[in-house]
Amino acid sequence: MRESKQYSRRQLFTHFARPPVKQSRLVISNTCDNLYGYCESCVDSCSKQAITWCADQKPVIDTDKCNRCQQCIDACFISAITVADE
Ligand code: SF4
Ligand code: SF4
Repeated sequence: MRESKQYSRRQLFTHFARPPVKQSRLVISNTCDNLYGYCESCVDSCSKQAITWCADQKPVIDTDKCNRCQQCIDACFISAITVADE
């Protein structure tokens, strides 16, 4: 006979009613052209002003401002920006 699994009210609430929300973040790889020359395409593409440009460094993405629209990914001509699950 097949056993049915029992769940407590707490398990039902925490596991089924509120499944974990997967957060994603953007990662800029070391192939970023701004490390070796000059590029700010991703900065220009961001309508949320979530990307800060710094000379000779990879741009920095403010995760609080970023809405994960991924326009910067499209703007990067060498595909240096990727999405990573947290
Ligand atoms: S995903 Fe959108 S909001 Fe986030 S940094 Fe890129 S362009 Fe800006
Ligand atoms: S568009 Fe790409 S190569 Fe240019 S600064 Fe942004 S991440 Fe670097």
